[in-house]
Amino acid sequence: MRPFTSTVFAEMSALAVKHDAINLGQGFPDSDGPASMLAAAVDAIESGGNQYPPGIGVPSLRHAIAAHERDHYGIDRDPDSQVLVTVGATEAIAGALLGLVEPGREVVMIEPYYDSYAACVALAGGVRRTVPLVRDGDGFVLDRSALAAAFGPNTAAVLVNSPHNPTGTVLTDDDLAQIARLTIEYDAVAITDEVYEHLLFDGRGQHPLALLPGMAERTLRISSAAKTFACTGWKVGWITGPADLVAAARAAKQFLTYVGSGPFQPAVAHALRTEMDWVRANAADLARKRTVLSNALRTAGFDVHRSEAGYFVCADPRPLGYSDGFEFCREMPARIGVAAVPVSAFVDDDQPWRHLVRFAFCKRDEVIAEAAERLGSLR
Ligand code: PMP
Ligand code: GLN
Repeated sequence: MRPFTSTVFAEMSALAVKHDAINLGQGFPDSDGPASMLAAAVDAIESGGNQYPPGIGVPSLRHAIAAHERDHYGIDRDPDSQVLVTVGATEAIAGALLGLVEPGREVVMIEPYYDSYAACVALAGGVRRTVPLVRDGDGFVLDRSALAAAFGPNTAAVLVNSPHNPTGTVLTDDDLAQIARLTIEYDAVAITDEVYEHLLFDGRGQHPLALLPGMAERTLRISSAAKTFACTGWKVGWITGPADLVAAARAAKQFLTYVGSGPFQPAVAHALRTEMDWVRANAADLARKRTVLSNALRTAGFDVHRSEAGYFVCADPRPLGYSDGFEFCREMPARIGVAAVPVSAFVDDDQPWRHLVRFAFCKRDEVIAEAAERLGSLR
């Protein structure tokens, strides 16, 4: 684990605290999820829900997750064998990789990748094969020839993150179709990290890879209450998929944490059943915040990329004279009181990404306005 001793989130959040800076680095909202969900957690705590929940998750949450899959995507899941509650999407990713990847086998992933992917592939003794996003206008697209080249007889799994952290890119249906074709051709499994499934902007909709022909039986789908209900500290995530693959993740999960988030599970079940209007309103609000922060960055002199979903927008500070994103992010908290994270923390080959910086817009309007003012002083 030597290459993984510290995370960029820890480093940049510590700098933000030290300099009392606005933290647009680590992606967490600064306001709460639906009030009825918070009240449901309090109720669960006060009514004795404070001991170990069942290993696979409390029945009310597994049933709510199955109902959510049916209502949103038309997928039928057996709540007892095809749904697994995890300690955030982070444990879902770890459990899926540890459960399914033999040492020496390869895992294909999009680059930049969420930081835990590389660490968990390393824990499993696997080998990562990265497929870069490449610039396309003001957005990004998958490098199709690199995707085809990344798959081979040693591929165990492909880890697909759409909507994508850190870029805010939503993969196209053609990208998903090619991933499905290669996954089937090489008899691999797909692990889809869809934690931003309800935070798409400008009329876009989530298209799960699991829905493509031949993929249902080989895809584990991961999501999390953290993003859907703005409760990143609760650490309630889940995996859905065919029973044999879910069982593999469960086998690993039971020796990672066994169980977690006891009183928060019924609260998330309540939110999944009753608060999807809140989720839709929140997504519309995030789209607006995305536009406000993107415009502020542009006005401040950055070259700003298109963000289609999620919590983040990426911006290039080279027009302001900064060519190294890490240097920029280490300097900004002290200099102007704003923290961000460098995209090069999420890559193997940092050349194409060295300059780029990720900013979180999941913040209150007044916080974004203050950050905009501070960023404006960079010129
Ligand atoms: N995957 C992605 C793409 C993420 O951005 C995050 C963090 N928010 C996670 C997984 C981890 O989710 P959780 O906080 O539920 O563990
Ligand atoms: N997912 C969040 C981000 O990308 C935070 C994750 C973390 O703190 N490990 O910023």
